[in-house]
Amino acid sequence: MTPAVIGIDLGGTNCRAALVGTGGRIGEIRRRPTEMVRGYDAWLAELVAGLEELLRQGEGLGLKVAAVGMGAPGLISGDGTVVASPNLPHLDGRPLAVDLAARLKRPVTVANDANASAWGEALFGAGREFNSFLAVTLGTGVGGGLVLNRRLWLGADGAAGEVGHWTVVPGGRLCGCGNRGCLEQYASARALAVSARERIAAGEASALAAIPAAELTSRQVGEAARRGDALALGVLEEAGGYLGQVLGGVANLLNLDGAVIAGGAVESFDLMQPAILRALRQHAFPVSGRRMSVVPGRLGDEAGILGAAALAGLSEQF
Ligand SMILES: [Zn+2]
Repeated sequence: MTPAVIGIDLGGTNCRAALVGTGGRIGEIRRRPTEMVRGYDAWLAELVAGLEELLRQGEGLGLKVAAVGMGAPGLISGDGTVVASPNLPHLDGRPLAVDLAARLKRPVTVANDANASAWGEALFGAGREFNSFLAVTLGTGVGGGLVLNRRLWLGADGAAGEVGHWTVVPGGRLCGCGNRGCLEQYASARALAVSARERIAAGEASALAAIPAAELTSRQVGEAARRGDALALGVLEEAGGYLGQVLGGVANLLNLDGAVIAGGAVESFDLMQPAILRALRQHAFPVSGRRMSVVPGRLGDEAGILGAAALAGLSEQF
């Protein structure tokens, strides 16, 4: 039988899973909404039922599914316990890996979702060309994962690489972490919409002013920028500038080969790139700033699934 693992990307909105073999993904990605209103146990039972279906499908394909890997939002300890998950508070304190392993009768690895995505890009995507890089995910929040010398660097508590909470505006917008002015509040997909709304409210002219404020999305900001809308271009330039400022600090500290930018806002990467590079070169020591390539992620939604699968044990065979 061919060895395989299941890779899962648990997000605040959706949970996606797929069978993954030594060459990458096998079969289609299954997606279900992340429903936790009925509590942890009910959610876990539904998740397990879905995964058992996937295991049966794997058996039918002649696969030996040896393990399960999951990327989940929040701070995850080395044994796969969710220490804290601001977006999915029902998971707080839950030994997710142990609970899943007991039900699925297989080893289960649970890692932070940004770390899983970074590892996916390292093995299968834009990170393959780098020995050491930072992966930054611009989604609902800003996640970060650090690969040093081709190994994921987790830090003492699994909290390494959290550049989303790097202060870029002292005293600025309040962040979910309790600090003010974190990068996440200026460069996440959600923040792009917030920045656009602020500029519209301040009287800046834009085609986006016709959209009800509550419905404005980062995608609309990106589309308007592509049509040359000055307000939208200003929002992306500002976000790119803050991101570049942080990358400059990271470059000074670690002299990395690269940064891989992924997540929902990456569809506007080309529009942000000039501002990112300008700020990176401004803030970094010249040799480190020149060394760091800043590239978009290549795997899109699949980075987390592939990375989680690899962390679950097939990595040495890839
Ligand atoms: Zn923060």
